[in-house]
Amino acid sequence: MSSSSFQRRVTREVKVGNVGIGGENPVRVQSMITADTMDTEACIQETLGLAEAGCEIVRITAPTVKDAANLQLIAKGLRERGCNVPLVADIHFKPDAAMEAAKWVEKIRINPGNYADSKKFKVLEYTDAEYVAELERIRERFTPLVCLCKERGVAMRIGTNHGSLSDRIMNRYGDTPLGMVESALEFAQIARDLDYHELVFSMKASNVKVMIEAYRLLAARLDEKGWNYPLHLGVTEAGDGEDGRIKSAIGIGSLLCDGLGDTIRVSLTEDSVKEIPVAYAILQAAGSRITKTEYTMCPSCGRTLYNIQETSARIKAATGHLKGLKIAVMGCIVNGPGEMADADFGYVGGAPGKINLYVGKTPVKFNIPQAEAVDRLVDLIREHGRWTEPA
Ligand code: SF4
Repeated sequence: MSSSSFQRRVTREVKVGNVGIGGENPVRVQSMITADTMDTEACIQETLGLAEAGCEIVRITAPTVKDAANLQLIAKGLRERGCNVPLVADIHFKPDAAMEAAKWVEKIRINPGNYADSKKFKVLEYTDAEYVAELERIRERFTPLVCLCKERGVAMRIGTNHGSLSDRIMNRYGDTPLGMVESALEFAQIARDLDYHELVFSMKASNVKVMIEAYRLLAARLDEKGWNYPLHLGVTEAGDGEDGRIKSAIGIGSLLCDGLGDTIRVSLTEDSVKEIPVAYAILQAAGSRITKTEYTMCPSCGRTLYNIQETSARIKAATGHLKGLKIAVMGCIVNGPGEMADADFGYVGGAPGKINLYVGKTPVKFNIPQAEAVDRLVDLIREHGRWTEPA
């Protein structure tokens, strides 16, 4: 892919309730609640908070059949309160829990590393015949879930985790991105054989390089096969604070810049609601989904002709609701016009305490006293028909 152009990988649309992933849909933002699945009210409240913050799909763990059955009450409580955010049941180890959950939610996430295998950490050399026999065993265990999802219109994520590959995969491919990809493709092939295609894939790892390589390899393998399923991106166990945000931004952002990814989850060791603004900020920075004003701001230096930090805050407060508008804020003209080539409007230091305003690359207002310049910028945006009142 060219380094100077951006093209999103073409994928089919997979419907998760009323929300489409892939196809022409924007890259979706999702998260996972941390409440105990048996605590119905806590799950409802956390999900409502996430939906309010802009989360479009919410995942809830279903470790047992009992938890999976409780998803019915959680879904009912949410719908009664007017919240239609689609729910995903997160399944590890328990096909029975998956079968129960598929009755109540819009999507099931399975982990191919442990759906039909409990890890024994055994070193086994599988002959080709034994490997095929293992796949047949998996087919038998996985088929009922695929059939139920197909019948009920439930989507499925085949979500591989680097840390939980099965013994079978580990022994054949090792602890590698290739093993991660093959593990997902084996399950996908079974689903396809049953003519079920509501699939989304993920290749999560806490090691960002492993994660990036696995997703790139997966995309290449899917394209080779002509399988256009959407991708769910995430760095697992990214941590908290600045470190967690940077790790997520690198992993998810790199892939978005490759044109990969149809839904993202930022995993932070914080309240789940804090993941949502980070997810939107990553999408905006990668140019994948624009939900707010885009600013180009110089870092300032000895040439800066006004107080740029204070002014930037005032400009953001006045214009932060203008979705998609690009505003450049430059301390002086040295790099100004070049750096702000993409901007719709520019606010540039012209002389000490004096501002010039630009429309695109063209200066249109000169030597405005700094105290009035933010208001004049707003006037200019209005004059050009780009202003909307804040909600
Ligand atoms: S635009 Fe001017 S003030 Fe800003 S960093 Fe560059 S030289 Fe310094």
